[in-house]
Formats: sequence, structure tokens, C-alpha cells
Amino acid sequence: MRNELLAWFNREGLLLTDMVTAADDPEHNEIKVTVKAPVLALSRAYTDFRECPDPVHFGYPESALEMMTLDDMHQFVLSWFEQAVGAGLARCFVCNRVLDMGTEKPWDAVFVSDPLYCWLLVHFDCKRYLNRDLKGRNPFEISTQPAEFFENLYVS
Ligand SMILES: [Zn+2]
Repeated sequence: MRNELLAWFNREGLLLTDMVTAADDPEHNEIKVTVKAPVLALSRAYTDFRECPDPVHFGYPESALEMMTLDDMHQFVLSWFEQAVGAGLARCFVCNRVLDMGTEKPWDAVFVSDPLYCWLLVHFDCKRYLNRDLKGRNPFEISTQPAEFFENLYVS
């Protein structure tokens, strides 16, 4: 992730920090600090977590990132998810069914903040079970793949 985007998440208070003391060498107490930016989940499977896509890679003006609001980011992530759903890549975080853009089983993009900052997709009807499926997740144990690139993503 580019430093500019990390800095943006930091400004919004959305970076998680983990500090680990390396115990191997007691004389040189080394403290390792890891930061974790919000992630996206295409499903609840551990292989389906994605690094937050960088708006600039999708045509958002680099100079405008500083002025980007959290609402803008939500909108951008939603556009990315719509492309992912259109491509058949996204599943409901709760029931694990593949989502589509139809109206029969409506879904929503949700931004959760506990136990990790994560955007995910869930059917309206499945939302009430969401907490159960998030419980016990450790953000620092989640490894992410780079987000898919979508050609037609509209960035305002
Ligand atoms: Zn569902």
C-alpha cells in the first residue's frame, strides 16, 4: 500500500497497531510495530480478504486524496464491490452464497470496526448474524491479497 494511502487511513483513525516485543534477545529489546489498514472481504474465507484498493490506481486524482472524505472512500469501495459482484467474485459474509446484482436477495456493503476494520458484503436478511461470524477474528492474522483491478470502475 502506498504511504499516501496509509497516511490517509491514519488521519481517519483507521489504522490498527500491534506491538510485539522480540523476546529472543533480552539485551536488545526490539519492539516490532505492525500497522494494519482496513481490508475488504469478498467472502469470509481467509483467502478472500483483499488489501484496500487504492483510489489513485482507479483514476482518482492523486492530488485530491488529501481532500477525500470517509464517505468518498465508502463510495469508492462500494463501486469496487459492485464490479466484483458483477464478475461473480463476491459472496455473502454470513451465508456464503454468491451475490448478484439482481433485486431478489438484496445485499449491502457494510463497514465494520470490531474486531477489525473491514468492508464486507452481506444480504439484508443475513445482517443479524454478522457479529457471530466476525467474532474472534484477529486482524493481524488475516493476510490479504492485492485487490482485483476493474477496468470500468467509475471514480468520481
Ligand atoms: Zn447471506
